[in-house]
Amino acid sequence: MSDFDVLLVGGGASAIFTLVQFTRELPSWRIGWVRDQPGVGVAYATSSARHLLNVPAQRMGAFPDAVDDFDRWLRNETTHHVGALEPFVPRGLYGGYLAALRQQALGSGQVTVVEGKALDCRRAASAEWRVVLADGRTAGAKRVVLAPGLPTMGGAWPKHPSLVADVWPWWLALPSDWQPPSARETIALVGSGLTAMDMVVGLRERGFEGHVRVLSRSGRWSAAHADATPLDAAAQQQLIAVLQAQPTARNYVRRLRVAAAQYPWRAVIDALRPYSQSLWQALPTFEQRRVLRHGFEPWNRLRHRAPPVTARAIGADPRVSIERGRVTSQVAEALMQSSALVLNCGGPTLGRGGRWPSLFEGLIADGHVRVNELKTGLQSVLPAELALLGAVRFGELFECTAVPELRQHAAELARYWREA
Ligand SMILES: Cc1cc2nc3c(=O)[nH]c(=O)nc-3n(C[C@H](O)[C@H](O)[C@H](O)COP(=O)(O)OP(=O)(O)OC[C@H]3O[C@@H](n4cnc5c(N)ncnc54)[C@H](O)[C@@H]3O)c2cc1C
Repeated sequence: MSDFDVLLVGGGASAIFTLVQFTRELPSWRIGWVRDQPGVGVAYATSSARHLLNVPAQRMGAFPDAVDDFDRWLRNETTHHVGALEPFVPRGLYGGYLAALRQQALGSGQVTVVEGKALDCRRAASAEWRVVLADGRTAGAKRVVLAPGLPTMGGAWPKHPSLVADVWPWWLALPSDWQPPSARETIALVGSGLTAMDMVVGLRERGFEGHVRVLSRSGRWSAAHADATPLDAAAQQQLIAVLQAQPTARNYVRRLRVAAAQYPWRAVIDALRPYSQSLWQALPTFEQRRVLRHGFEPWNRLRHRAPPVTARAIGADPRVSIERGRVTSQVAEALMQSSALVLNCGGPTLGRGGRWPSLFEGLIADGHVRVNELKTGLQSVLPAELALLGAVRFGELFECTAVPELRQHAAELARYWREA
């Protein structure tokens, strides 16, 4: 297959942001785009009107220097009106925006689409990178970007006919005439984050009237968005300074609690956003481990907030119950016996099972990619030639899954390679 300046592997938002940035910043480059699916990634493939963005439309633009670009696109290209009161629009609309950006990039004439799953990536003796596809074809380039997205969920669940171990592929494949279980039945959800909340409102939309029983370690839903007056610049700087002064998990938690007693907690968390990577990176590895062990669940619950309309719908639903508990093998067995369906809405299992997607195995073996010390993600050892984008970087970075970070990382990469 003809050789490229860069090979980009992945088909979701990270890959599309990268395409858009490369066609802008590197107009002479020939780009080979390897993707295993024609869509725009799992997050924005849902057609449910109740599956909403968890970031206001006004901040979801693809460009760090034009964060309102999606809002502008909605107004110009669709009939959807983003009201001041309801900025959380259906995610399917964002899928349309990503598809439009993809078309724009393809229209540049720089991009050759290579349909197929990349199975292996290696640096050849000629210092060229070669990607091997599942059907045996290979493609070569001077540089590679790997943006394979969130790993599949599943973990160590026992096989059972009522178990859905990886919930999004299941949801997206439901036929339009799907018959939900009867109103006498229970559907159990494991996990109570944004995916579980999407499942509750989605199941209701699809006509399920029975009991939705939710079990999670916290026994609490993700917090909902609400207005909160932002910290002023002085208060923000003071907060960041006391955190930076002592980079330990204990100090971070204590200082955030103090600030949250003084200011609205949402404003405190939002004030950290521009500093969260540097605050994370300032922690020694054993302190990062403590954050993950003790603070990550509450952080996720408070930081990744649900659209208010979703939280209200769930709060007002008398046939939804939520309980706290760990899912041991006996609990899993009991849930599967007593429920028509058990939907695993827990987080992805990246790295926890000890194996990385096969795409990375050769790179790790050859020393071009390193497993981070926390064993939660991967790092490129040759950033001038090999870039990783998205969730696979978790650990090196604290925030690497949401659009605001993904667009930033894609823009930084294009600039870095343009100037290299
Ligand atoms: C349900 C859900 C809702 C979300 N909502 C929001 C939101 O409202 N706002 C927000 O900011 N963020 C949200 N996120 C975060 C979300 O992860 C990102 O916004 C974004 O979709 C991640 O894009 P990505 O390209 O990194 O990964 P993905 O979307 O997972 O895309 C990866 C792509 O690469 C392809 N691929 C993987 N491996 C290979 C291979 N070996 N060869 C070829 N192709 C491959 C996959 O098929 C897939 O198409 C949400 C996430 C989920 C799961």
